[in-house]
Amino acid sequence: MECYFIVIIVIVILTVIVIGFYWLYKVNFTLSPTGSITENIICIKNGISNVFIYTKGPDRVVIDAGFSLKGMKKELMKVDIIPDVVTDVFVTHTDPDHTAGLSIFRKANIYFGKDSKVKNSEDYNFLEDNAQILVGTIKIQAISTPGHRRGHTSYLIDDGYLFSGDLVRLKANRVKPFFKFISSDHNQLLNSIRKIAKLDNIKMLLTSHSGYSTEFEKAIKKWKTLVPQNM
Ligand SMILES: [Zn+2]
Repeated sequence: MECYFIVIIVIVILTVIVIGFYWLYKVNFTLSPTGSITENIICIKNGISNVFIYTKGPDRVVIDAGFSLKGMKKELMKVDIIPDVVTDVFVTHTDPDHTAGLSIFRKANIYFGKDSKVKNSEDYNFLEDNAQILVGTIKIQAISTPGHRRGHTSYLIDDGYLFSGDLVRLKANRVKPFFKFISSDHNQLLNSIRKIAKLDNIKMLLTSHSGYSTEFEKAIKKWKTLVPQNM
């Protein structure tokens, strides 16, 4: 009898998880399809996540690695990118929907935010808040934006393109916090949003699950007037 009860509880829990993910994906995730979105930026749709490739002349950086290795391979082929030519990958955080495709970039330096919990950490590079890296002529600045996960980092590229991972989502061109119920520390996440709200001259904000905005000032306006706490 007890055994049946446990089975029923497990089925109910699994059903809730499946419905929860379906709701997230179908109702709240608004992914961009694979293809160029600006002269410099290619978007890759890999499962439930968007990955971005920023290019300038011969130089190229990748932000995140997507939901699956197979998906990454297939989508990179669509935009004629050979994984071995990628020299640098910047990962916003350690969740599998951002890291599952990492091993395809066999020749790349891979970067995480400083406090990220990663297995085989000796294989990776860890960036402090405000660390700056040059990949050829591309300038990448790490901005520590914890909350969704420990070590979550956003990347500001060439002073104008902000790749925010799972810090925020965009809804009707307004910045909203990423989902509270799947984030580690919601208050910390709110402070991280207030931190990016202080950035000037952002040309584009690019999220991992809800598209991008070319109207950063308008989208983030509400967050500029709120005072950061505990920072
Ligand atoms: Zn994610």
